[in-house]
Amino acid sequence: MGTVLFIGAGPGAADLITLRGARALGRADVVLFDALTDPALRELAPRARWINVGKRGFCDSTGQASINALMVRHARESAVVVRLKGGDPSVFGRLEEELEALAEAGIPSEVVPGVTAAIAAAAATQRPLTRRGTGRSVSLSTAVTARPSPAPLAPADSHPEAGPGATLRASRTADTEVFYMAGKQLAALSRRLIEAGWAAEAPVSVVSRAGWPDQLHSDHSVLTLGRAAMLHAGRPTVVVVGAGARPLGAGAATGAPADNTLAPALVSAEAAARAKA
Ligand code: SAH
Repeated sequence: MGTVLFIGAGPGAADLITLRGARALGRADVVLFDALTDPALRELAPRARWINVGKRGFCDSTGQASINALMVRHARESAVVVRLKGGDPSVFGRLEEELEALAEAGIPSEVVPGVTAAIAAAAATQRPLTRRGTGRSVSLSTAVTARPSPAPLAPADSHPEAGPGATLRASRTADTEVFYMAGKQLAALSRRLIEAGWAAEAPVSVVSRAGWPDQLHSDHSVLTLGRAAMLHAGRPTVVVVGAGARPLGAGAATGAPADNTLAPALVSAEAAARAKA
């Protein structure tokens, strides 16, 4: 009987994994990895068997059940099974189901944390998620939920990518809100944010592929968020709304910067848009 190590791979480039994660990966006999993890991480476990269990788009329950079964089977056959997940395993990573499946099968497990996309986006744009005086709380939300929650904060848009019954939600519960899995629905998210009580001119920072060499960033307001859709299409994207979206140097009262003002360290969104045109 082996052990399953859940390892957060971080948001992108292989060097954003933690030292503990890298060392644990080196002990793997089998690695079950997700789509968003960097292929360069294979160098850390060259003798392991690497199995892609990535699911595209919204995770369905059948896919999840077979991943659980695969983990249990390999843990019975090998000493060290690594479950490698993008970002941090505890953030929108279906960790609950996987830990429960292992516990039910009596298989020991351990979780190694990783850098979640919200944190990588904050670093990439030099926009701290908390701000002294104005940004005292941060929430991590998924824009898409499989089922309507019992007490919805806002009405839901249907979400065609997420399958029947999936809904788009927005909320206003923290000074800085970071939305995951909203990339395909930015115009709808803009409407939902306004309905949830956000000011139309509140700043929004959109970052895709944070932590990768080709990361992109654009600035908007809640009202103009839909304009980010083309630029970030088809890329993993986080949407930061409120205090933590404000560029440094912009006073709290100045609201949102003009669309697409860019941090110099990032790939220019304007240049990318020109290249596409
Ligand atoms: N466990 C992961 C999240 C998995 S859910 C984490 O902690 O980051 C997948 C969503 O994460 C994507 O839809 C996107 O919203 C976000 N995401 C993952 N990697 C990202 C990246 N490099 N840049 C921006 N967003 C990312």
